[in-house]
Amino acid sequence: MLRTDITNFPQVLKIKRIVEETPTVKTFYFPWEVKGEIPGQFLMLWNFQDEKPMSISSIDPVNDEIGISVKMVGPFTQSLHKLQENDLLGLRGPYGTGFQIAGSKVLAVGGGIGMAPIATFTEEASKIGVDVDVITAATTKEEIIFQERLNTTGANVLPTTDDGSHGFCGFATELAEKLIKEEDYDMMVACGPEIMMKKLLDISNQYQLPAQFSMERYMKCALGICGQCCVDDVGWRICVEGPVLWGDQLMMISEFGKYHRDSSGVKKYF
Ligand SMILES: Cc1cc2nc3c(=O)[nH]c(=O)nc-3n(C[C@H](O)[C@H](O)[C@H](O)COP(=O)(O)OP(=O)(O)OC[C@H]3O[C@@H](n4cnc5c(N)ncnc54)[C@H](O)[C@@H]3O)c2cc1C
Repeated sequence: MLRTDITNFPQVLKIKRIVEETPTVKTFYFPWEVKGEIPGQFLMLWNFQDEKPMSISSIDPVNDEIGISVKMVGPFTQSLHKLQENDLLGLRGPYGTGFQIAGSKVLAVGGGIGMAPIATFTEEASKIGVDVDVITAATTKEEIIFQERLNTTGANVLPTTDDGSHGFCGFATELAEKLIKEEDYDMMVACGPEIMMKKLLDISNQYQLPAQFSMERYMKCALGICGQCCVDDVGWRICVEGPVLWGDQLMMISEFGKYHRDSSGVKKYF
């Protein structure tokens, strides 16, 4: 069982079970004493060679269990996808800000693996009676994640695919704007590709809808020491002041939707 009183040391834990969500996404469950983890917070995963940030995709205080959903994109995530039940991984955290649950009717938007924190948000918000419309967006049907799991929360689950193979045909941003025009939301939460979140930020400003976004930047220490994930102008460390920020905070980050920095600090334009 993880000792959550010493969060900055990686705790080496056995993988309890693995769920294959899609051909490219697996969820890894670990024994974990849940102590107020918030949807949107993240953990650092250590494969004994490298360490990378991953959002908490499931929080289960009843079974003392936490989940991390990993999309295979490169060397680190490929190494995780090779792991089996009972294999070991290092985990430290939780870190960063999470989503604030506010209002009685909320639009939640998750693009691709961005659904990881959006799923936990939807579960927690639904539990306390918030009416959630959740857009789970993917390029194609087989990459939609968490649809069945979210159907059990009572939330209104709206799958969306770019190619129209399942649910709404088009981008999550198009469905979000349509819903915002038709419904009376108090708030929006979003996580996904930055290009999607920039468009959602513009939409939230246009319709004056308060919104929170989970932002990604290259992270190393996750402790606010190394400065790797600082963003231009405001200098916020996304691992500490983020990753979840309100729309008016994002408006102050000049690089949002334009560029990010790689592991050496070199600018990479989206
Ligand atoms: C707060 C936060 C939460 C995240 N949550 C998830 C999640 O729930 N599930 C998931 O699959 N992925 C998540 N990611 C992204 C994940 O960290 C990267 O996909 C992973 O590090 C890629 O490593 P790689 O070696 O497989 O791929 P690489 O080929 O090394 O990189 C692929 C992409 O991941 C980015 N990346 C690589 N290393 C880091 C790093 N140390 N910090 C941030 N980005 C990095 C690169 O910039 C590149 O865009 C999250 C990132 C952040 C910052």
